[in-house]
Amino acid sequence: MSFIESEERTALRKAVRQVAGSYGFAYTDRCIREGRRPDEVWSEMGRAGFLGVNLPEEYGGGGAGIYELALVLEEAAACGVPLIMMVVSPAICGTIISRFGTPAQRQRWLPGLADGSAVMAFGITEPDAGSNSHNIRTVARRDGDDWVLDGRKVFITGVADADAVLVVARTTDARTGSLRPALFILPRETPGFEYRRIEMDIRESEGQYELYLDEVRLPADALVGEPDGAIAQLFAGLNPERIMAAAMAVGSGRYALAKAADYVRTREVWGQPIGAHQGLAHPLAQRHIEVELARLMMQKAATLWDEGQDQAAGEAANMAKYAAAEASIGALDQAIQSHGGNGLTREYGLASMLAWARIGRVAPVSREMVLNFVAQHSLGLPKSY
Ligand SMILES: Cc1cc2nc3c(=O)[nH]c(=O)nc-3n(C[C@H](O)[C@H](O)[C@H](O)COP(=O)(O)OP(=O)(O)OC[C@H]3O[C@@H](n4cnc5c(N)ncnc54)[C@H](O)[C@@H]3O)c2cc1C
Repeated sequence: MSFIESEERTALRKAVRQVAGSYGFAYTDRCIREGRRPDEVWSEMGRAGFLGVNLPEEYGGGGAGIYELALVLEEAAACGVPLIMMVVSPAICGTIISRFGTPAQRQRWLPGLADGSAVMAFGITEPDAGSNSHNIRTVARRDGDDWVLDGRKVFITGVADADAVLVVARTTDARTGSLRPALFILPRETPGFEYRRIEMDIRESEGQYELYLDEVRLPADALVGEPDGAIAQLFAGLNPERIMAAAMAVGSGRYALAKAADYVRTREVWGQPIGAHQGLAHPLAQRHIEVELARLMMQKAATLWDEGQDQAAGEAANMAKYAAAEASIGALDQAIQSHGGNGLTREYGLASMLAWARIGRVAPVSREMVLNFVAQHSLGLPKSY
């Protein structure tokens, strides 16, 4: 990993900034107010090749890696356009289907995921399992050639506007009778599948949904990869998810700090810009350092992942997600403080972003579960739960 970004990556950053920057936070805010998805920027970024930059070239992708996809999301979020579906559709679903999908599944889904014309949500979380995804109860049983799925999911992002959901269910091993996770592509219009939007107190347009699967019948080819290999297949998606969540947090932190720096450079209440007071300058500088450190860990995680160092990438992805969420929450909080009363107005739009930034502390894996992982795997401490 070089600390000097290549010309291609620098050019990609600039190109993303041109597109996402022409929309900016004002556009995101308008979509949220109107209760609609940010379709225009999504489509334009898809057409430009940004959304599928990590997917294989033979299916319309850019043939690059998670580093590039994270760079795209970071830069868009830094422009005030945090496209959360990038964490799910091209990063989790695109990666899993590229690696483990059949040729027919790849042909059916990857070109659309790459240019943004198709969107796939991802559903693992369940009400009774929560952070303990070993405990999920959605089951898939065989009925002839078909699969029949029953269960419930919660907090699944973007379902109403997705073409399908990549669902994690459990199948029974015919030999041992044990349950194991498996992945299924569930088209949104499938009979027996219903979803309901959860009212959230975060401002966002994608929406979070509860899913109800009641005797949902899927053809044999809805299964992605092997039922036996599902743990490895899952982590093929979950590590990119953590890296992308870190990217969105880093970008949002950069957005908040840039806005705060602009404000304190010009706002005067004692005859000089308030940014001249160390009481404001130091915490902003400190938050900037924290965001930069988180960004470095995110880039390390992405590099390890793209180099096939899956185990080391897993540890780094957890650490990056943790560090980026904390840095971004701190950056937003300090940006609000730096704006005084304006920090709490609708016009400046910062206070509502704080709730958005806090998603990173809970999802896709909570702060506590990352600390559990690091305590156990990095420090070799006994498992505490
Ligand atoms: C905005 C948003 C979008 C999401 N999108 C998706 C999505 O698209 N797909 C999807 O599948 N899921 C999604 N999720 C779900 C998310 O991954 C879960 O909310 C998260 O994993 C935590 O699960 P939980 O909410 O059930 O909390 P719980 O598991 O009930 O945990 C509650 C609290 O207890 C803590 N805790 C639990 N166990 C331990 C322990 N052993 N040690 C210490 N502390 C512990 C947790 O850290 C947390 O602070 C989303 C969530 C949100 C909020």
